[in-house]
Amino acid sequence: MSSITIIGAGPGGYIAAFEAARRGASVTLVEKSEMGGTCLNQGCVPTKTIKASAEAMETAGRLSEFGITPASTDEAVSFKADMAAVVARKERVRKVLCTGLEKTCASLKIRIVRGAAEFADNCTVLVRSEEGTEEIKSDKIIIATGSGILDLPSLPVDHKHIINSDDALNLDHVPESMIVVGGGVIGCELAFIYRAFGTSVTIVEGLDRLLPIPSVDADMSRLLQREAKKHRIRVELAKTVKSATSAGGRVSCVLGPSPFVEGATGEDSTMEAEVVLVAVGRTPNTKGLNLEAAGVETDARGWIKADGKMRTSAENIYAIGDVLGPSRIMLAHVASAEGLCAVDNCFGEERELDYSVVPAGIFSSPEIGTVGLTEDEATAKGFDVRSQVFQFRELGKAQAMGELPGMFKIICEKESGRIIGAHIAGAHATDLISEAALAVNKGLTAEDLAHTIHAHPTLAEGLYEVCEGWLRGR
Ligand code: FAD
Repeated sequence: MSSITIIGAGPGGYIAAFEAARRGASVTLVEKSEMGGTCLNQGCVPTKTIKASAEAMETAGRLSEFGITPASTDEAVSFKADMAAVVARKERVRKVLCTGLEKTCASLKIRIVRGAAEFADNCTVLVRSEEGTEEIKSDKIIIATGSGILDLPSLPVDHKHIINSDDALNLDHVPESMIVVGGGVIGCELAFIYRAFGTSVTIVEGLDRLLPIPSVDADMSRLLQREAKKHRIRVELAKTVKSATSAGGRVSCVLGPSPFVEGATGEDSTMEAEVVLVAVGRTPNTKGLNLEAAGVETDARGWIKADGKMRTSAENIYAIGDVLGPSRIMLAHVASAEGLCAVDNCFGEERELDYSVVPAGIFSSPEIGTVGLTEDEATAKGFDVRSQVFQFRELGKAQAMGELPGMFKIICEKESGRIIGAHIAGAHATDLISEAALAVNKGLTAEDLAHTIHAHPTLAEGLYEVCEGWLRGR
């Protein structure tokens, strides 16, 4: 294989490009917008950068708890989020990382072509830009075009009062009130961020729990619902927003019982807010790619079909990342892993990606980290399991940090003690999950972790303690 074209420079596309170039291929990376894709420009990085501001705001509100008082008693100290500065900081972080990607491409001699790609046939891509159309022929092509925001006709986004997640990362002021439509990962993350900035927030979720996704254990959803209540975030479960009408600087929503929950009943009601944030899902970025010309098949909803080796229905064309849709896992690190797998296979290997151990981080407050099976999944799959929990507040480090909410939960095979799932809610849970991911990936037991000395005082001791607890209960 000597030449490869990759369409889309998100975490799937750029990691694939780096790997292919390091292995000696001549690589062309086509991007119609900014380097870094959704992850860097509208997803992972901007949300976590703004979350850092939200956490600073929360800490500022708790200074006296840590014994920090105003140096002068002349005036009362209070803080507000200056959204222009918050967004400017987010932009600085984004640009540093974008520039870093461009430099890596240059050092690896990856040719970046700016413009929108479409297929002419299964080895030819046309890239259209203001400068004209360039034809690129290559031995292999990887489609890494990602996903975009799903719009609902009943909730027409005007980018001012009815907004989407992209808009929520660029607001010029802190809204007084916000209705978040969708209590999934993106909805929950943004709800906690804006609550920390002082917005009065309501989450409306069509299913019967927050984070209603299979990889999130029901105990974690319950804990987050309790924390939402403590933060004074109102949560309306098993309800949907049937319509939203914007007038006079306010949005009026009609809420009704959810058609997605059996037995959900009740009268329709109305609710008003300054802003409605629609966070209901994603849609494939395949429009305009002319996939038919290359013979690349999609499913009924437009997501590209690929096998475990990332091969599409067209010879020499692979697809990776979000564009494969929710039947895979729509996360940045999964897109990157799929990119590496596709490149291996472009170079003649026959590698299938193993999706069984994929850690995920949810940056709500508190954070949630998950890996492996939930208790419900394990039971449904016929495993004979016993679970164990350990509370954050029992850790010396959590007390020292003033970070008390949270729990560690492991799900182990009863007989062997093998850890098949781990779920952590609490401060830094998204970092703490990595040790559990290694344990699940390597088939380690609760005993293996309990017999590994953990440094004190650390939050990581929670994983040791929950495994110790599991052993004592045996
Ligand atoms: P993308 O990152 O979407 O990149 C696709 C690229 O292809 C884009 O740059 C696009 O411009 C380009 N493109 C599309 N069509 C064409 C074309 N025809 N020609 C040329 N270029 C084209 N994931 C996590 O793992 N952790 C998180 O914390 C997290 N937070 C998120 C928060 C939000 C608000 C959102 C929206 C997503 C978040 N995600 C998170 C998901 C993550 O962003 C995606 O899973 C990831 O970006 C997918 O990578 P990708 O390479 O498949 O596609």
